[in-house]
Amino acid sequence: MAEFDVNAGLQLVLKRIETVLASRPKEIKAGKPLLVAVSKTKPAESVIEAYNAGQRHFGENYVQELVEKSQHPQILAQCPDIKWHLIGHLQGNKINKVLKLPNLHMIQTVDSEKLADKLDAAWSKLEPPPSEPLRILVQVNTSEEDVKSGIDASAAPSLYQYISSNLKHLQPVGIMTIGAYGFDYSNGPNPDFVSLMAVHADICQANALPAEALQVSMGMSNDYDRAIEMGSTIVRVGTAIFGHRASKA
Ligand SMILES: *Cc1c(COP(=O)(O)O)cnc(C)c1O
Repeated sequence: MAEFDVNAGLQLVLKRIETVLASRPKEIKAGKPLLVAVSKTKPAESVIEAYNAGQRHFGENYVQELVEKSQHPQILAQCPDIKWHLIGHLQGNKINKVLKLPNLHMIQTVDSEKLADKLDAAWSKLEPPPSEPLRILVQVNTSEEDVKSGIDASAAPSLYQYISSNLKHLQPVGIMTIGAYGFDYSNGPNPDFVSLMAVHADICQANALPAEALQVSMGMSNDYDRAIEMGSTIVRVGTAIFGHRASKA
C-alpha cells in the first residue's frame, strides 16, 4: 500500500478550515474550530508525523487503542504536548483505566447520568489529584439510531444541567454528535447538525451562556466543512489526514 502523506493531508484540512471559516455567515457565533486528528487504526508513526507537522489534538474511539497509543514510548518521548480525546463509547468498567492515561484531554462521549456520576467519582479519587476538572462533552444521538450511543436530543439539555449543577469534578464544555453516515447534501442541511445546533441553543439559553461558551463537536472527513458552516467548533477528522483505514475483516 502506498504511504499516505500525512503532512499534506493535514495541511489541506487546515487550509479548508480557514477557507470555510472566512466565508461562514457572521450571524453564526462560534470560535475558531479545533481540529482533532482521528488516528484510529493508524500506527504511532502516523501520530508522530502529524505531531511534527504541528498537530496537537488527537482522537481515538477504541479504549484499547487509546490506552496503547497514549502510553507508546515513542509518542511519550516525542510528543510531550499531545492532547488525547476519547471519541468512542466508554464502558463503566474501563473508566479507571482511561482516566489515568497520560495527556488525556477530553472525553467526548458522556451520554448518561450514570456514566457522568462514575467519571466524577473516579476523577475525584485520582492520585495525584488533578489540578482541573475533567473536560467532557455530552454525546447526543441526533440520528436516533438504536445502534448509536448518545442521549436523545430532547434529554440532552437536562443531562448537561445535571452535570454542571451537581458534578464538580466534571467540566461540561460542550456537546457532540456522530450523526448518520452518507447524508446527501443535495437534500439541504444535514438534519443531525440542525438538531445538535438546536440543543446548543437550548443549553445556552437555559444557562444564559453566550453561544461561544459552549463547544459543538460535529463533522468528519466528508462533512467537516459543512459542520463548520453551521457552527461546529470541534471537527474530528481521520481519513482526510491519515488516509483510508483498512476495512475491518
Ligand atoms: C472514525 C471517527 C471519526 C473520523 O472519521 P473520518 O471519516 O475518517 O474522518 C470521527 N468521529 C468519530 C466518533 C469516529 O469514530
